Amino acid sequence: MFTAEMARQWVKESARKMEANKEELTNLDQVLGDGDHGLNMNRGFKAAVEQLDEETVDAGAVLKKTGTNLLSKIGGASGPLYGTLFMKSGNHLEGAEIELSELAIGLRNGLDGMKKRGKTEREEKTMIDLLEPVVELMEEKGNDLTPGQLTDMAKQALEHVKGYEAKKGRAAYYKEKSKGKQDAGAQSSYYIIEALASVLEKGGAY
Ligand code: ADP
Ligand code: MG
Repeated sequence: MFTAEMARQWVKESARKMEANKEELTNLDQVLGDGDHGLNMNRGFKAAVEQLDEETVDAGAVLKKTGTNLLSKIGGASGPLYGTLFMKSGNHLEGAEIELSELAIGLRNGLDGMKKRGKTEREEKTMIDLLEPVVELMEEKGNDLTPGQLTDMAKQALEHVKGYEAKKGRAAYYKEKSKGKQDAGAQSSYYIIEALASVLEKGGAY
């Protein structure tokens, strides 16, 4: 089950991870971009936490509002992309108790919106390369999904994205030279999935 409180904890845990790994995200973006990704993500998630609706019992509403804040506060290329992910996921989720199979459908909707907005497919070295295998796993496992499976898949995806040649965003200027270097957006998406896994692990304990 996924509840509004778990959605709030997901945003808070993501924010903690963005703050703790701000320098790392910035360093990655310095190599293949302009070095603002750590700052962008930290600012966006901080704002999302400040604006969380602590009262609602509707998990979808929490995610929608988070998406709106991420959209306006992250900035850069990733603001509209993460904003779309959370907004469109939230659009498909309504209610107090969401099954994991439904959460998968919501995230699929968010991810498809993100792909459309970024005009991005797999293997173009972006956050999509991290998120899509994870969402596929969630679709496949449905209510049997375990937090460990989620982090294992995210780890695997993070290894794969490193080897791809960048085709989107500033990193695309580096062409062949981008191979073997980590994508900043894939790394921040990894933290978001790690945060989700830790929230699912604690489950009803919130
Ligand atoms: P900017 O590139 O404007 O400085 P950020 O540094 O915040 O924005 O984000 C860069 C990340 O955004 C990249 O590492 C990549 O994962 C992701 N990204 C860039 N363009 C796209 C796109 N068209 N589709 C999906 N992800 C993208
Ligand atoms: Mg950047």
